[in-house]
Amino acid sequence: MSANHPNILLVYTGGTIGMIKNAETGALKAFDFKNLLKNIPELKLLDCDIETLSFNEPIDSSNMSPKYWIQIAEIIESHYDRFDGFVVLHGSDTMSYSASALSFMFENLAKPIIFTGSQLPIGDLRTDAKENLITSIQMASLQKNGKPVIKEVGLYFEYKLYRGNRTTKINAEHFEAFESLNYPHLAESGVHLKVEYDDLYKPNTRKKLVVHKQFETDIVLIKMFPGISEAMLKPLFECDDVKGIVIETYGAGNTTTEMWFLNMLKKTTKRGIPIVNVTQCSGGSVLMGQYETSTQLKSLGVISGKDITTEAALAKLMFMLGEKVSPKAFKTIFETSLRGEMS
Ligand code: ASP
Repeated sequence: MSANHPNILLVYTGGTIGMIKNAETGALKAFDFKNLLKNIPELKLLDCDIETLSFNEPIDSSNMSPKYWIQIAEIIESHYDRFDGFVVLHGSDTMSYSASALSFMFENLAKPIIFTGSQLPIGDLRTDAKENLITSIQMASLQKNGKPVIKEVGLYFEYKLYRGNRTTKINAEHFEAFESLNYPHLAESGVHLKVEYDDLYKPNTRKKLVVHKQFETDIVLIKMFPGISEAMLKPLFECDDVKGIVIETYGAGNTTTEMWFLNMLKKTTKRGIPIVNVTQCSGGSVLMGQYETSTQLKSLGVISGKDITTEAALAKLMFMLGEKVSPKAFKTIFETSLRGEMS
């Protein structure tokens, strides 16, 4: 491994980037990864050594789950010492969830893990896949004094590199499919690659890498809407199996102040079930106490998700419950940024 000739591992999990059209139905379906590379001879021109690995059965990312997050993490973990950077090819639909999850799984990460994909298959004439893939590899290859420049989980799409756990898929049509409204992009691809050094995550590189692999999936996400009813929510809040709840609230973290709702929250937090408050706005932060409609949530012990995305909040909740963080410390730890996921 030399400073100017990094080793990059490309991990193909599935997604549009490597799909082909079924001639009869017209539906897109994942296909053999080797064909993907045949479509990009340009990869040979890059100033790095690329090795590739593929899921045995590539998936549409709508089928993504913690089982696959662990699979991706284990591939990276077992190749961590041999490679300088990792590029994960992944469907765009749930890419923000996976990038968030991987960010929590890799504690003390000192190398880049860049997620990318595309809106059009690599074989399509107007594809966005080539630029996304080639530049992601270049981002993962960036080095300074023989050390990787990016030491976090990123997501590269349509000329921008973002912190993965800050992103959300915002468009199913445009090539610019992702946004990071509460944190600036980390790098931009123009005539040159422009890295925003001040915004990069700075891990403690003296600490050893720890890979966490436990997730608790018995959680629920509830989006508030005018008219939400007690009858519908009761079974969810009172379910014996529920281990954690994320509520997507209005604006700066506001909800209805109807007594049945507040009582339901009270009973649930009393049972030691964490309830996380995130905003359903795409940008901005939860600020419980700013309005009367959120003051009570604060006194009921509801956790503030601050400016975290819903994707990262769900991943963080599954991760922290999987790690068996004690109910006493749960709120404090959740409200602390672990991997740059909240301000
Ligand atoms: N349905 C696809 C997936 O997420 C869409 C994409 O790849 O962009 O796997």
